[in-house]
Amino acid sequence: MKVWVDDQRCRGHGVCTTLCEEVFSLTDDGYAVAIDSEVPAQFEAATEEAIASCPEQAIVKR
Ligand code: SF4
Repeated sequence: MKVWVDDQRCRGHGVCTTLCEEVFSLTDDGYAVAIDSEVPAQFEAATEEAIASCPEQAIVKR
């Protein structure tokens, strides 16, 4: 699984980074980005939780 943050939707709440800091991080601009590579298997559940929990539905699988 790979994920991507839609920067047109992200409002920088940081829910995703709180749930899975190994996959998501906040940039200096205050928006989230996801790691570019495949989500490691051990973080897939937390990543799915972040997708479901994002208030802006800004995280998409790709
Ligand atoms: S939870 Fe959603 S809106 Fe908040 S920082 Fe993460 S991607 Fe952006």
